[in-house]
Amino acid sequence: MIKLYNTLSRKKEVFKPLKAGGVGLYTCGPTVYWYQHIGNLRSYVFPDILKRILEIEGYKIKQVINVTDVGHLTSDADTGEDKIEKAAKREGKTAKEISGYYFKIFRDDLKKLNISEPDVWSKATEHIKEQIELIKKLEKKGYTYKTSDGIYFDTSKIKDYGKLAKINVKGLKAGKRVSVGKKRNKTDFALWKFSKELGTRQQEWKSEWGIGFPGWHIECSAMSMKYLGETFDIHTGGEDHISIHHPNEIAQSEAATGKPFVKYWLHGAFLISKGEKVSKSTGGLYTLSELEKKDYSPLDLKYFYLSAHYRKPLNFSFQALDYAKSSLQRIREIISKLDKKQKKNKKNMNMAYKQFLEFLNDDINAPRALSYMWEILRENRLNDSEKYVLILKFDKVFGLDLDKRAKVKVPEKVKELIKERDVLREKNDWKKADEIRKKINKLGFVIEDIKKGLVVKKR
Ligand code: AMP
Ligand code: ZN
Repeated sequence: MIKLYNTLSRKKEVFKPLKAGGVGLYTCGPTVYWYQHIGNLRSYVFPDILKRILEIEGYKIKQVINVTDVGHLTSDADTGEDKIEKAAKREGKTAKEISGYYFKIFRDDLKKLNISEPDVWSKATEHIKEQIELIKKLEKKGYTYKTSDGIYFDTSKIKDYGKLAKINVKGLKAGKRVSVGKKRNKTDFALWKFSKELGTRQQEWKSEWGIGFPGWHIECSAMSMKYLGETFDIHTGGEDHISIHHPNEIAQSEAATGKPFVKYWLHGAFLISKGEKVSKSTGGLYTLSELEKKDYSPLDLKYFYLSAHYRKPLNFSFQALDYAKSSLQRIREIISKLDKKQKKNKKNMNMAYKQFLEFLNDDINAPRALSYMWEILRENRLNDSEKYVLILKFDKVFGLDLDKRAKVKVPEKVKELIKERDVLREKNDWKKADEIRKKINKLGFVIEDIKKGLVVKKR
């Protein structure tokens, strides 16, 4: 039994798929105008862990991640510049070059974090037709209106617009208290924006309303419903989407189909820095490659992510990352030393595996599962070989490459001593060579001579 915290009900609910066996999962993806920072990347870890536990429970998953390569403006209030067009100007490149370049880096980052690829990557610019069709449907049903700036969705036509964000929409209606410019209601949002001066945008399309481009929210409704059906199981994203983007997706999808859009809404809390929320637009958080340059591996970062529950804000600091790095190294060292040839008791292993899954099935409690892994390693309920097989099974969920040999950083001093020892051995001066070996041991390292050369290990 899997329980998931559904933002819609603000409760943990038992997961029941809409159709037996198959699960449709949509993950709000990146806006590809710049590198995704390590905050953004956090939002793709929990859907991946979720996918893996659903698979273990026997479900077949279809996951779609969208790639926003048009329409996302610098302000969520439907004003400002298109982020992709702005980046193209900044870098003197075409919009396609910008989105292609940053998408590739994002995809590589996910790979480095052992996050599996979705079944479908869907780009907004490749689904303009579907977005126009959906807007036409909404227009026909009377949910839209036109301003000088574009076609807008009238949120006052929706009775339960505030159901996900739990906001009182009445207070947000246009009128006495809120100035909304051309919009009728503060919460209304653009479905289609007109190009201001024709030919000045790189990406614009013809439509029945005029030349322009789709608003940001419509892409997710059009593409998720295309690949997963009008009602599907799970939708994930960062917690910032609870207030605007996801209520808008729900409003336009449910208005168009008359059916519930998504059964379970899952939101990941932010990675924060010095107590502040940071976003890509304000800069401030590192990218994965910046961390790699500082000698952290992507999986050090993943271990750090997994040490906190996905619904809890996580504070980034190098101290915390160092702790994650050494924990991962330590666990790999322990695993490499386990005796793999002992007789295994299947029953004991199954019990431990069941317990591990119970932690994860409780709203993806990865930190608890991680600490359980440490308990297994520290205690003697299982023998070495049982521990080894089990930890590798755990790693099918974590994706931390736990069986990888711990990388040993050998200090210069030790390297020099090794060279000295080699020279002495060539001269058959075994006594002095052995003294050097002892010196190396004193520095915390052991060396083993093997057929092909030498292995250096931490003591
Ligand atoms: P964007 O590329 O800005 O559209 O964002 C991609 C994803 O990253 C979205 O699901 C956001 O909610 C999420 N996100 C943005 N900033 C953070 C952060 N600091 N921590 C976690 N997730 C974030
Ligand atoms: Zn979305």
